[in-house]
Amino acid sequence: MSAIDLLRDELRTIGDLDSISAALDWDQATYMPDGGAAARGRQLALVSEMAHAKRASSTMRDLLSACRDLESRDDVDGALVRRARQRHERATKVPAALVRAIKEHSAEAYVAWTHARPANDFASVRPLLERGLDLSRRLADALGYVDHPLDALIDENDRGSTVASTVALFDALRAELVPLVKAITAAKPLDASILARPVPAHVQLEFARSVAEQLGYDFHRGRMDLTHHPFMTRLSGGDVRITTRVREDDFGEAFFSTVHEVGHALYEQGIDLAFDGTPLGEGASSGVHESQSRFWENFVARSPAFWSRFLPELKRAAPGTFDDVDVERMVHAVRHVGRSLIRTDADEVTYNLHVMLRFGLEKDLFDGAVKVAELPDAWNARMTTDLGVTPSDDREGVLQDVHWFCTTIGGSFQGYTFGNMLAAQLWESAATAMPDLETAIAAGEFDRLRAFLIDRLHRHGAVYDPAQLIERATGKPLGIEPLMRHLRANYGALHGVA
Ligand code: ZN
Repeated sequence: MSAIDLLRDELRTIGDLDSISAALDWDQATYMPDGGAAARGRQLALVSEMAHAKRASSTMRDLLSACRDLESRDDVDGALVRRARQRHERATKVPAALVRAIKEHSAEAYVAWTHARPANDFASVRPLLERGLDLSRRLADALGYVDHPLDALIDENDRGSTVASTVALFDALRAELVPLVKAITAAKPLDASILARPVPAHVQLEFARSVAEQLGYDFHRGRMDLTHHPFMTRLSGGDVRITTRVREDDFGEAFFSTVHEVGHALYEQGIDLAFDGTPLGEGASSGVHESQSRFWENFVARSPAFWSRFLPELKRAAPGTFDDVDVERMVHAVRHVGRSLIRTDADEVTYNLHVMLRFGLEKDLFDGAVKVAELPDAWNARMTTDLGVTPSDDREGVLQDVHWFCTTIGGSFQGYTFGNMLAAQLWESAATAMPDLETAIAAGEFDRLRAFLIDRLHRHGAVYDPAQLIERATGKPLGIEPLMRHLRANYGALHGVA
């Protein structure tokens, strides 16, 4: 066997261990009884330690040395060796004691947060946030960086992005977005009340399932189950699962979270099966992944073309509930904009301000410009400036998200906004490649759109760096203009904003 074949074999074994973890995680989040929690925690720790040991091993080091000649090659084998080396180096750079300290801290901070949030008790988690910040700095130091410690943490999720590149994009976006949000929220709000009309859970789930199938999600290589916080997980190229949740008085909940996870799953189902089980058989970055969920959720499933196809189907599925609703009214409901305090409830226009607030605070914490004790006030001040609403307590403010309490602090929020920007950029490229895009959507015909995404993006998996992939797919680097054009055209206009 050649050196690259031996390396690929070893990587597939590690990939299988990761898939075993993913299967255990999926089970924990769907069907496992509470009584299984302690044993499941041990099982997950065992499998992840086995994968870590293999990544950091001298066997892996020797296999990588034997493949050194391939590493600079501009092809799939070159990319495979580079990705494998990045993982090997990460596994050897971060001391086991730090990995353990982060894990133990995260478990403690998460439990504390579940009590502190309902009790509106920031003081009780303040020391934990301080320790979390310290551990995050130590992780950044271990990983290494050139300019800013957060660069190391951003790179973990959005390879190649830095604080400097993110700040440049976000400052430009915020300058355009804040005035647009002010103008839209000063106008008469769109009526979203039809989404609160009760629809039985099984009807919502059947409808969501039918839409998922028509969008092209392959149920022979996937399944859909219920959970608390919807997610997509890949167990292998032939088994890419989605989860959803349903509220009988909120039609948007199950529907849009299903379409969102379908977007993630179409990406994973579109990756070249030859990469399966290796570090190339996954999405290119958090931002690129999020672009796929947002593409289907916001650009396809909130459009008039989409509802001209699916509103009649919804009326048949829920007889009597939406009889008086036409496409225009449905689009108004799903494009309702409001100044909300909670990120996860935010609409497409205000959402990125919530993300930028968090990214900005993470940077301020690392720079020492804001101390942990000052976080609640800094949060509220920024909400008031950017969104025009002030949280009445920390439950609606700094305590709302789990992120800072379930792992290290920093490096994960920016991907949500990168995803929204890239989704808009891809939408424009798709519309250029398919001048009849909206007619096709209105006809329920998604094959060519999916083929476009597979060809430009999905099939490449993690072969290219995100920046390279984005340029190849859309002909230009990630920018704010396509997103701003979309928001002005589809939200500004609906609210009479020029
Ligand atoms: Zn997502």
